[in-house]
Amino acid sequence: MAHTITLIPGDGIGPEVADATKLVLEASGVKIEWDVQNAGAEVAEKRGTTLPQEVLDSIRKNRVALKGPIGTPIGKGFKSVNVTLRQTLDLYANVRPVRSLPGVEPKFEGTDIVIVRENTEDLYAGLELMIMPGVAQSIKLITAVACTRICEYAFDYAERLGRKRVTVIHKANIMKLSDGLLLECFRKVAQLHPKIDPQEMIVDACAMTLVRNANRVDVLVTENLYGDILSDLGAGLVGGLGIVPGANIGKEAAVFEAVHGSAPDIAGKGLANPTALIQSAIMMLHHIGEGAAGTKIERTLIEHFKTGGIRTPDLGGTATTTTFAEAIANRIAKA
Ligand code: ATP
Repeated sequence: MAHTITLIPGDGIGPEVADATKLVLEASGVKIEWDVQNAGAEVAEKRGTTLPQEVLDSIRKNRVALKGPIGTPIGKGFKSVNVTLRQTLDLYANVRPVRSLPGVEPKFEGTDIVIVRENTEDLYAGLELMIMPGVAQSIKLITAVACTRICEYAFDYAERLGRKRVTVIHKANIMKLSDGLLLECFRKVAQLHPKIDPQEMIVDACAMTLVRNANRVDVLVTENLYGDILSDLGAGLVGGLGIVPGANIGKEAAVFEAVHGSAPDIAGKGLANPTALIQSAIMMLHHIGEGAAGTKIERTLIEHFKTGGIRTPDLGGTATTTTFAEAIANRIAKA
């Protein structure tokens, strides 16, 4: 039976990495009917909105989407499509596995951490105002409900995947009420999961720990902004933004997307590395019960890098987005 899945190619390098990912998925043998929906900058020019209603309807109906990046202009303009999607569909858990691939970044080989980022509130709540000319305020909204459910998600995830430790990342020494609330919720949830070792770490110390010895941590759970920054740091450890996948999970729907943005500087040139979206698709396959196909693609990717297979320019190679995807698809077909 074919799965019907919403596909949002997105902006910039989005359509290129989406095509490459489709090619690899087809080679795995899994049957997917794509419900292609457009959102982002080009749509906004024609429709006056970056996120037309039918895109949300499609995700609600299919319950699963694979999404390319959608750029957000800095400063004034449209609200971020990514943030709107996460908030509207209540995709509260953003899961970002940061895992090294063989031979890609030898200094950080063996890195294997998972960042579980709260996706709906914090400084992303969109509560900003000009108090008076020259004075702006941005409200950091933290609720016990959101803190509790993201901590529950992180502990459940750790148990499900046989992980040993969950570390909450905070700055409660300074933000005693907001980050203090996260800590309080984390401690309560931790008591319900005695098999998992609960740890607490201040966000700045976490940044240093990741660079010096990422293996000291396992699953990290944190607020929206810290999670955003730490995931890019994590991407830097394992070979850059072209590698790291992500999933936005809610009770009603899940949207799988790479950590990277639309990368307008390299768009349309065939330079983009599709590995991050391919790895997001692997997470998607596990989510829809096609774990065997997901594992097949994952093993092939690892084997490809281990045996010195072709690479895109961000990893020092000369392969294009398409030739890289074809090489992976060919290996899968032969496996
Ligand atoms: P956005 O505004 O959509 O976040 P951005 O360019 O500010 O886009 P990213 O797209 O996250 O931010 O990327 C930052 C840089 O990393 C890009 O300029 C690009 O050179 C590089 N990069 C990002 N993704 C990839 C990729 N998949 N393959 C190769 N390089 C990438």
